[in-house]
Amino acid sequence: MSDDYVHSILDELGTVLDSDKREAAISYFRSIAPRADEISTWSMETLEFILCGANFGTITCPSCGGAFAADCWNDRMDSDVSEAGFTLTRRAMPCCGAEFTLHDLAYEWPQGFAPSGVRAMNPNIGKLSDEQRARFESIIGCRVRVIYEHL
Ligand SMILES: [Zn+2]
Repeated sequence: MSDDYVHSILDELGTVLDSDKREAAISYFRSIAPRADEISTWSMETLEFILCGANFGTITCPSCGGAFAADCWNDRMDSDVSEAGFTLTRRAMPCCGAEFTLHDLAYEWPQGFAPSGVRAMNPNIGKLSDEQRARFESIIGCRVRVIYEHL
């Protein structure tokens, strides 16, 4: 058995997912994915890395499109963590010197860092449309990044 999660994570640091937004986001998710096994929200004190699991593919530089090797990325993940969690420090890319945080990198499939988000387990709805993403953004009040996690 494998499970799929669709996550909408807050893409702007400092935005808070309060209880009204949580309820509205869950009820909207339920309306577009009525057969999901579970729909929930989460919030953490520190940034969580939401990964795409088995959908993990390539990582590239948003500036020049150069490939970013997995071992470089692992090193950067290790060095980005402090006692307070991920710091998302901007660092120069080996390909072209442009500076990005781990959250800025181009992940195929998307992944990212957030203190909170909404997720649906086995929603069976494929990918969210632009309209559905826009709806989440208006409910939550900031940009969201949609992550498809396959376990
Ligand atoms: Zn580059």
